[in-house]
Amino acid sequence: MREVVQVRAGVAYDCDVLVVGGGIVGLSTAYAITRAVPGTRVTVLEKEPGPARHQTGRNSGVIHSGVYYRPGSLKARYAVRGAAEMVKFCAEYDIPHAVTGKLIVATERDELPRLHALVQRGRENGIPVRELGASQIAEYEPEVRGLAAIHVGTTGVCDFVGVARQLAEASGAEIRYGAQVVRVDRRAGLGVAVLTGAGDVVRGRVLVNCAGLYCDEVARMTGDEPGMRIVPFRGEYYELARPELVRGLVYPVPDPAFPFLGVHLTRGIDGGVHVGPNAVPA
Ligand SMILES: Cc1cc2nc3c(=O)[nH]c(=O)nc-3n(C[C@H](O)[C@H](O)[C@H](O)COP(=O)(O)OP(=O)(O)OC[C@H]3O[C@@H](n4cnc5c(N)ncnc54)[C@H](O)[C@@H]3O)c2cc1C
Repeated sequence: MREVVQVRAGVAYDCDVLVVGGGIVGLSTAYAITRAVPGTRVTVLEKEPGPARHQTGRNSGVIHSGVYYRPGSLKARYAVRGAAEMVKFCAEYDIPHAVTGKLIVATERDELPRLHALVQRGRENGIPVRELGASQIAEYEPEVRGLAAIHVGTTGVCDFVGVARQLAEASGAEIRYGAQVVRVDRRAGLGVAVLTGAGDVVRGRVLVNCAGLYCDEVARMTGDEPGMRIVPFRGEYYELARPELVRGLVYPVPDPAFPFLGVHLTRGIDGGVHVGPNAVPA
């Protein structure tokens, strides 16, 4: 056990805030807390040997604009503000990123009303959206065909693993890798004591659960009953053999029957183009 740093009300704490999970949510939580209240002692416990080994480091790498979300909703406000903050963060720390813009393309007539609704949503969310007729699509993507499309100006791509690493470093938090939380002892007014798989005990005044797909299990460890179970899905991608066919990001109009954005073409920061993801129960 490392040195005890604080004693409050007779309880010895190793830190003020214990964050479980070293993906982008856990690391940005640590970053935000140490920025908001300098001097707060934050410890992040991550079961893998490094940051961003799960969803954060294995996604499409897209900085979403917020075009899909209901105007005024928390999701819309967070996405619009978050996209701008992400670009600023990447620029500040020299993390590879690009604001490429993206196309959402309708290929069937029944998609046109939904495409039009996205234009309205995007504009209400303050996002630069341009409507394109079939012949205008080639201005952005010469190899793409469709009935109509919209161009969303603020979508981009970035290196999310680089972002996660930088959040960890800039937060000043203690990050412990290889530290899987296997038990949580929570006592009213006395904070939490967490046991790791390696047998270490870490005590904190509060715990923030950022365990991604394991959030429900970690919640149960603390004695909470979240009333739901996370059903994990894995997304698989193909690599386009001829990346020169796609300049930026090309998406379908989302199908409301599914909670996914649909299979898209994404030119990443490395210049390769991914096609995907599908959604496979994992
Ligand atoms: C296929 C796919 C594509 C996506 N594409 C995009 C995209 O292009 N743009 C975008 O913005 N979003 C995208 N997303 C969503 C985005 O990736 C996630 O919302 C985000 O990464 C979630 O971050 P997280 O920190 O909550 O989860 P994770 O990155 O999964 O982190 C959770 C961490 O908790 C750790 N953990 C779990 N249990 C424990 C434990 N008991 N003890 C210690 N540590 C533990 C895990 O090891 C993991 O590192 C995509 C998601 C998927 C699945």
